[in-house]
Amino acid sequence: MYDLVVVGSGPTGSRLAARVAEAGLRTLLVEEHEQVGLPVHCTGIVSEEMLRRYVVPDTVRTVRLNRFDLITPTGRRARIPGLQAWLINRRKLDQSLASQAVQRGAELLMGTPVEAVKPVGHHLDLVLKDRRVTTRLCALATGAMSTLPQRCGLKSPPAFWQTAQLRAEVADLAGVEVYLEQSITPGSFSYAVPVPGETPLLGLITRSGAWPAMHRFLERLGKSGRLGSMVGKATCRRIPMGPSPRSVRGRLMAVGDAAGQAKTTTGGGIYFGMMCADLLADTILEARSGGDFLPARLAGYDQRWKKRFRTELRAGYLARRIFEHVDDRELEELAGMLEDPEIRGVLAREADYDCHLPLMNSLLRLPSVRRVALNLAGRRFPGATLMALLRRVDPGAARFSWRNT
Ligand SMILES: Cc1cc2nc3c(=O)[nH]c(=O)nc-3n(C[C@H](O)[C@H](O)[C@H](O)COP(=O)(O)OP(=O)(O)OC[C@H]3O[C@@H](n4cnc5c(N)ncnc54)[C@H](O)[C@@H]3O)c2cc1C
Repeated sequence: MYDLVVVGSGPTGSRLAARVAEAGLRTLLVEEHEQVGLPVHCTGIVSEEMLRRYVVPDTVRTVRLNRFDLITPTGRRARIPGLQAWLINRRKLDQSLASQAVQRGAELLMGTPVEAVKPVGHHLDLVLKDRRVTTRLCALATGAMSTLPQRCGLKSPPAFWQTAQLRAEVADLAGVEVYLEQSITPGSFSYAVPVPGETPLLGLITRSGAWPAMHRFLERLGKSGRLGSMVGKATCRRIPMGPSPRSVRGRLMAVGDAAGQAKTTTGGGIYFGMMCADLLADTILEARSGGDFLPARLAGYDQRWKKRFRTELRAGYLARRIFEHVDDRELEELAGMLEDPEIRGVLAREADYDCHLPLMNSLLRLPSVRRVALNLAGRRFPGATLMALLRRVDPGAARFSWRNT
């Protein structure tokens, strides 16, 4: 019998398997695809902080991204001061994390979809493609596309938004370009990312209709005369928008995108997912008792990760829902505000690739920003609803940052 079976060899599954196997637990990591890290669906932008914390090998890094430009419907370009990140090779990241799990003692089983997880007394039976496996605990790190967590009684994140991504040549792409255009991606953004030695990545996030949105985005780039030929196939995926209401059920837990742990502002989920994998590993190791685990202690994982990330995730989603109701003319005005030295100062000091709530709070302390934000929010939500939503996000949101917890 295994102590833990982790389903899914993405970054969160491999990180969890490595931590738990290292502590001596008999661990199996199961992946439905034949090769770790393939196919790649992700853009692969992460922070320096994430790469340092997880001691990611240099071979995974592709290039440092120093330039992020916001582009409005009329083509106005506003550079975000102070924002930096890394473009990584996502396939290499996943492979490096999975081999760390194996080096630390986890068994890795590839090409094997897990079809069901059934509680039987004090253990779980996993139905795999070609066999059954028994385990004391199971963690579903199955990403945003799988329905396995819900079929096993865990709760789905409150919403999923759609993404589309493809590779195409774009002339004069000097840095990351983020397009804010409500007629393409209402409440969201599309992007172009230069990849050294390869064709740039173009993508977008939208509540629904990712393909039509991608056509509109390509048309927009085409009109500017910068779009060249497309390379390979386009992909359409989902990203979670907000924390799952229930990420633990008895001996079964969800982690990563499966639990809604991706950033609701950008959709980036590698770093938060891996940090939540660490919180789950800590909880599992603390719940060890005799040769078994105490389910009552495992339940603490749900509170633990939500205490740290829920406010950030909910605030990001609320901002996105308000932003859906901004029109293109207002977008131009908002972009114009980025020229205000006071706002640029706050951005230069506090723009952070991972943690967005402190920046939102600091910006909202500026009277000019607060006036505009309240006006936009008031149009989307009647006053009482807005207050209830803000209270739901967190009564102490103004002082909150997941880095302090
Ligand atoms: C277009 C796009 C761009 C993105 N860009 C970024 C970015 O730049 N930066 C960032 O941080 N994040 C980005 N993300 C989000 C990021 O990809 C996810 O947050 C991250 O991959 C989540 O990791 P995970 O381990 O939870 O799940 P995943 O990486 O999705 O891994 C889940 C694994 O589980 C396996 N699996 C699923 N079901 C089963 C089953 N039943 N049996 C066995 N195996 C199973 C899958 O095959 C997969 O390998 C992007 C996402 C998309 C769609």
